[in-house]
Amino acid sequence: MKKIIIDNLIRSKRRSISLEITPDAKLIVRAPNKISLRYIENLVSKKRKWIESKRMLAYEKYRATCKKFVSGEEFLYLGRAYSLTITDKQNIPLFFQHEFRLSKDHLSNARQLFIKWYKNAALTKIEERLSLYCDMFAFKYNKFNITNAKKRWGSCSVKGSLNFNWRLIMAPLSVIDYVVTHELTHLKEKNHSIDFWGKLKTIFPEYAPAKQWLRKNGHLLII
Ligand SMILES: [Zn+2]
Repeated sequence: MKKIIIDNLIRSKRRSISLEITPDAKLIVRAPNKISLRYIENLVSKKRKWIESKRMLAYEKYRATCKKFVSGEEFLYLGRAYSLTITDKQNIPLFFQHEFRLSKDHLSNARQLFIKWYKNAALTKIEERLSLYCDMFAFKYNKFNITNAKKRWGSCSVKGSLNFNWRLIMAPLSVIDYVVTHELTHLKEKNHSIDFWGKLKTIFPEYAPAKQWLRKNGHLLII
């Protein structure tokens, strides 16, 4: 039988082992520091049935949120859903004006066109938000990039380069602002210390609901 892959094993001072299937069908195992990997793998293999059925359900749900690129389907942009119309003929393969319009000649690469559109929109919007917060709070960053990271929404390097995930452009502006101010705050506080959250609060006081939104809905920001 094939071995069950643990996507993330989190060790801590906890006393018991817990298994969790994430919305994108990953298995997270939380375990006490002292318990051997062998014991954990044994337990996981005993729970095979439960894990596999949970994973299948999560995967099906996840697949259902993937886009099919048909007229009437909705696409998120800045937290709002806009519908797609497939058109007969148009000069630009994909454009946006109150709705998304995609030329039917480009259906075969619809996903790439949408990603390109989203990346561009993310670049423009994040640059605008960065300059707003930099002007207001005297932050200085080196450069910023739009990335395709699987898990991270943003990051800040030791050299002061900021990275932001293009999928953020699907989220409400307050969520984008939270990630932008979060990474800007890392220019001054590297770790998620009490000082970090305190500083962030002075810059973006309503960060908590935005953070919560991302934790709850982040897995839906896919196409
Ligand atoms: Zn951080």
